[in-house]
Amino acid sequence: MKAIQNSSGSLTPSAAADLTARLSQIIEGPIPFASLCEHHAFPFYGRVYIGYIPHEHIFGLSKLVRLVRLYTRRFAVQERIGRQIADTMVEILQPHAVAVYVTARHMCIQMRGVRAVAPHTRTTVWRGEYERNRALRAEFLAACGVGQRTA
Ligand SMILES: [Zn+2]
Repeated sequence: MKAIQNSSGSLTPSAAADLTARLSQIIEGPIPFASLCEHHAFPFYGRVYIGYIPHEHIFGLSKLVRLVRLYTRRFAVQERIGRQIADTMVEILQPHAVAVYVTARHMCIQMRGVRAVAPHTRTTVWRGEYERNRALRAEFLAACGVGQRTA
């Protein structure tokens, strides 16, 4: 985030981080999806949240929904869905930061376990400024309903 650092002058790093978090984070979601677990061929389904700090371009919600559909149709692996969405956004939008949070229930876990309903499996992917900026991650996760946890 060179532009922020260069233009922030006397701001401390955390003040600059707060500024970034307050002013420029775009968070979209939940975007529901249903897919098939590549390992077990059982369904898994859940929601995707996408956060990013645009550089020059933004994605409308419909484009993000299409992106989620693209990587969740047919067989998929939950961890890979987040990585593919994040890396595609980096490639196309060249944003300052991308965060993808995926929460899902896996029927394969449910079938094996004693629980009536599978627990949520949660994965996060961070790119760019999110990797360095704890305040940004916390704000993103809070918007996803995860509270202040940073994992
Ligand atoms: Zn599975």
